Amino acid sequence: MNDGTKAFLKSAYKEYYFRHSDWIEFPAAVQSREFGYMPFAGGMVRHLSFKEEGEALAELLKQSPSSVYCSNARYEHPARPMEEKGWLGAELIFDIDATDIPTQCKRTHDLWYCETCHASGRLPRQPKCPKCGSATTDFHGTCRECLGAAKDHALRVLDFMTNDFGIASGSVRIYFSGNRGYHLHVDDARFEPLDSPARGEVAGYLRGDSLPPNQTIASTLRRRPPNSGPMGDGWTRRIVDYVDARMPDYTGTLRKLVSEGIAAQKALVDSSVTTDVHRVFRLAGTLHGDTGMAKMRVKSFDSFDPFSDPVVLSSKPVTVNVSFYPSFEARGERFGPYRSEPTTLPTFAAVRILTRGMGEVA
Ligand SMILES: [Zn+2]
Ligand SMILES: [Zn+2]
Repeated sequence: MNDGTKAFLKSAYKEYYFRHSDWIEFPAAVQSREFGYMPFAGGMVRHLSFKEEGEALAELLKQSPSSVYCSNARYEHPARPMEEKGWLGAELIFDIDATDIPTQCKRTHDLWYCETCHASGRLPRQPKCPKCGSATTDFHGTCRECLGAAKDHALRVLDFMTNDFGIASGSVRIYFSGNRGYHLHVDDARFEPLDSPARGEVAGYLRGDSLPPNQTIASTLRRRPPNSGPMGDGWTRRIVDYVDARMPDYTGTLRKLVSEGIAAQKALVDSSVTTDVHRVFRLAGTLHGDTGMAKMRVKSFDSFDPFSDPVVLSSKPVTVNVSFYPSFEARGERFGPYRSEPTTLPTFAAVRILTRGMGEVA
């Protein structure tokens, strides 16, 4: 990325932060949180702390960085090195990323890409570019199908938290991540003291990792007395309800039906995110460093469009020399694909290409 492109990105992000600073959502107890950011120049700045929101906001406006992060943990001394911080507890957070959910669409939009000669092709990735021999990188695209799957899994998390863990649905805040998924923040003090293994158990439960083998579940179901009525709770109830609703017309084996029932209901949360109690998360209302889209509260999935609502940068035109970029949708328009060409784009679309290093401001 050249200096002109870095300066353009910084000014585009700065303009957003000046106009919409009220969209930034600071957590409770700001003074106990660790903050961090990633400048457009590269690197990562961590272990920052602020006495109050205004101070944090002033620094954010001044830096207008590529990404802004804040800990879900509260600390006695948030600015000290990790081992001296004094951990006081952390909100429970789940991360759902479309990249981790197996969908058919990936075959059409996930690519490998050569930064040297701009060759590209379908996955699996060629470790060396077949044209010029340079190293290649993955490019994950996004479409309505995979973000729809991510939304389904987010709703499954909500269902598990409210039905199986007894949390009020209003106590789970859902955010679009700014890129390819959703973050779910659980506002329930009972979860805040949980250590990493305990959080791992919760994540494992949602993912269905701790269930017995399908064959064992099927055998148990086969031994049920006829007309035994509702059975069990949690996963047991989920599987029984699924099987009972489909069994009359099902032609496959019971084991296969059990396996389908689990696949249709498990929530593929990223366990490593949930279990890391010292992590910093993108601050709500700030821009994603790879897309220029906002991490944004989803008040209702019925009215939320991840291809329009989080696209918050301006439409001011800018000319970009694009080396390569697949087709994408933003704010009701389709852009690209582009290959080694200068093109004039609205800022919100140009930023997506520039942040990935796939073009420079002309
Ligand atoms: Zn190449
Ligand atoms: Zn897709």
